[in-house]
Amino acid sequence: MIYADYNGSAPLSQEVRDYLIKRFEKGPFANPNAIHYLGAKTLMGMENARAVCARILGAEFDQVVFNSGATEGISTIFHTVLSNEKNKKIIVTSGIEHSAIVNTAQYYATRGFTVKCLPVKADGIIDLETLEQWIKEEGDNIALVAIMAANNETGVIQPCKEINILCQQKNIPYLCDTTQYIGKTPFNFKEMDLDYAVCSGHKLGAMPGTGILLVKNPTCLLPLIIGGGQEKGLRGGTQNYLGNETLAVALTAIEKNFVNLNALTEKRLEFEDTVKKAFPEVVIIGETSPRLATTTYIALPGIHGQAVQIELESQDIFVTTSSACSDNMPVTSKVLKAMGTSDQVGRGVVRISLCLNSPLSYYDQLSEALIKAYTKLSKVKSF
Ligand code: PLP
Repeated sequence: MIYADYNGSAPLSQEVRDYLIKRFEKGPFANPNAIHYLGAKTLMGMENARAVCARILGAEFDQVVFNSGATEGISTIFHTVLSNEKNKKIIVTSGIEHSAIVNTAQYYATRGFTVKCLPVKADGIIDLETLEQWIKEEGDNIALVAIMAANNETGVIQPCKEINILCQQKNIPYLCDTTQYIGKTPFNFKEMDLDYAVCSGHKLGAMPGTGILLVKNPTCLLPLIIGGGQEKGLRGGTQNYLGNETLAVALTAIEKNFVNLNALTEKRLEFEDTVKKAFPEVVIIGETSPRLATTTYIALPGIHGQAVQIELESQDIFVTTSSACSDNMPVTSKVLKAMGTSDQVGRGVVRISLCLNSPLSYYDQLSEALIKAYTKLSKVKSF
């Protein structure tokens, strides 16, 4: 079996499973905010985890806020930055953002803000020149820029350092959606000098329903959940201390796996070349752009992506298509539409996403299986 949907969700890492088995045996299980000994011991475990996460992510201890995941982190930042904003009325996002950004921005559009959506080039990279122009012309009226670091479908890495520099010129808060970036490529919050970054535990091999919000200046954070003042008043509700501990365990395991980055990138390129040699008309989305080492978004024009996914599943390989279906017709995803990808290609894509410690041999199995699927399906072109 090959699980190739890590961009969707990563299974619990082996290290996290081992940790939890011992942890369940050992305890403690108490409220980390309680004043008794067991509470203090539980708190100590969670705060150790915070220190580990802070070190690995290049943040200060106090800049790490535990929460339920990236969506909550994103909503918290929109709330923090926009709810008391009286003068600046523009939110800038891009055509390739996740619905966690798109729909939150749309919500604020109903509250008097204007959402400006940055165009994206055919290579999957946002149009930096347009952003520069908008900031030059209307920067004083831009309340928030929310643009991702790496795209969940294409794996294309965005110029977030450059975006940040442009934002800093006009003191515009920048929310960098690092959900797909953290854990797949080295990341340092302080070095990148970001205002806000988010991540989800289930993308890292930690427990689902956990996450981290990184905040440059935590005293300015407006809690989305008020409650009883937990997380130093920044996020109410008794913490998921077990889950938060798994974030530290998962990130520690990932940190060790960064040595595999170059070998994985090379093997992924070899895999893509093998498929292209067998089917020269194959399209790799964002092929020439910097991409996450573990992501390939691939289409054979005219072949239904879901048919490919089903064929691969029959060979015990789990990938996704990322494109919705309407009236039984595959629909090109909004990310690909933003990139100007044709429906011939957009309806055919499957996303293959692995993790940093996936065996390199998976790519040999994947090329064999994909070529087999394309050979079978190209005899009966779907559209
Ligand atoms: N941002 C990006 C780029 C994502 O890929 C995802 C999830 O796929 C999210 C945000 C939202 O993450 P979650 O659903 O874990 O809150």
